[in-house]
Amino acid sequence: MRIVVIGTGYVGLVSGACLADFGHEVVCVDQSSAKIAELSRGQIPIHEPGLEGLVARNLGRNLNFSTDAPANVAGADLVILAVGTPSSEDGKAELGHLFQAVEEVVPHLRGGATLVVKSTVPVGTARRIRQRAAQLPCPPRFVLVSNPEFLREGSAIRDFNEPDRIVIGHGEGESPATIRAIYAQLLARGVPLVEMSNEAAELCKYASNTFLALRVAYVNEMADFCEAVGVDIASVVQGMALDRRIGHHYFQPGPGFGGSCFSKDISALLYTAHEAGLDLRIGSAVKQANSLRKQGLAKRVARAAGGTLKGKSIAVLGLAFKANTDDMRDSAALNLIADLRSRGVTVRTYDPAARPPALAGVTGCSSLAEAITGTDAAVIMTEWDEFRSMDLAAVAKLMRKPVVVDFRNLFPLSKAKAAGITYHSLGRATVRHQPEGQTALPQGESLPLPVPA
Ligand code: NAD
Repeated sequence: MRIVVIGTGYVGLVSGACLADFGHEVVCVDQSSAKIAELSRGQIPIHEPGLEGLVARNLGRNLNFSTDAPANVAGADLVILAVGTPSSEDGKAELGHLFQAVEEVVPHLRGGATLVVKSTVPVGTARRIRQRAAQLPCPPRFVLVSNPEFLREGSAIRDFNEPDRIVIGHGEGESPATIRAIYAQLLARGVPLVEMSNEAAELCKYASNTFLALRVAYVNEMADFCEAVGVDIASVVQGMALDRRIGHHYFQPGPGFGGSCFSKDISALLYTAHEAGLDLRIGSAVKQANSLRKQGLAKRVARAAGGTLKGKSIAVLGLAFKANTDDMRDSAALNLIADLRSRGVTVRTYDPAARPPALAGVTGCSSLAEAITGTDAAVIMTEWDEFRSMDLAAVAKLMRKPVVVDFRNLFPLSKAKAAGITYHSLGRATVRHQPEGQTALPQGESLPLPVPA
């Protein structure tokens, strides 16, 4: 099968490389000539485990890169649109890139080819693509398929190769045979393929992401409640998640969800629902709860650092919105850094993959040790293994004050106690460091952390 992928970002590049690895002949197209030049040399512009090897294995054989959509589209059996659909100010999905791609591609499609929308797009977009295509000079006859992508950054290749399901939306009487053929290996392994209307496929993606975000917002709220009443969230989560109706995915407390998808997709869902005359109260609550959570992070750090932040030096460990990616889009770490700066804090950052933001008063460090040396507190923002495996006692020795704020709950409280640090996490008791000569707190070392106002 000859496939062209338009847009070589996190989704387009992974999809293109995986499809080439399945044995298809793939050309990945991007409007950024710098990106295409890099990719053609085998350099990968993003951090995604396994991607470099996958591209290297297929590059120049059945995986090629180009900036020229029309030339490549002409011979393709199937063209995948994987361009960005960011949020505009009012929350509406910005479809400028998508329609630009449609206009570039459609006139050059060969008759009977399949055009696949993999970008996340609002319900009704396939219909609008059809209308736009009809206005173009001599539009060919093509099959229009909505095939939302559910991969996660950080485990994108595994997710693409082992999806829970493949969702295919198409018009009545249109055959999705070509797209079935590109996923033949997965279907042969028993991956379920669910066929529906284009509209249902479009909505299915937004509804899924909003639901996952809802789980995160819910467990975060429960963590706050645990803090208020002195209960350990880990026990509550364990007791809940073993119930198969609930499960453990997207169910760990954290600093608030980020990334390129959740916030923008909830906003777009709310926007399209509003256009349809509906107020989605649950979706709105999830969005609001998450943004309040992110706004409350600096306050939590202030409490941990003894009340005031002005003049302090704080290490922010992790910039990416999650581990195993360098993606900082909508990352809670960026909110925290901005808030710390506005409170007069000098910030030192370290992330194993993401590049530090170029901001006054923010020093990007090249190692964990460099970042924490001489600081008044270290804040763990991303659940990288490197942070999970750090030696807390050694960390404490490098810091001016041995205070760790862990927004990912990476350590058992017993480890923090043994390391002799003050350790604040989410939904759990605070472990307090007792400087020599001071008496311990009643009933040991723990106190609940008050819920932020
Ligand atoms: P991205 O911003 O990483 O990449 C988009 C790419 O498209 C960029 O390289 C850009 O240069 C290119 N592009 C834009 N217009 C183009 C055009 N007309 N011709 C050629 N190239 C063009 O985006 P992404 O994170 O890969 O997301 C793409 C889509 O997939 C979005 O709709 C997103 O919501 C959805 N999605 C993303 C993820 C994820 O984890 N990132 C997961 C599932 C779905």
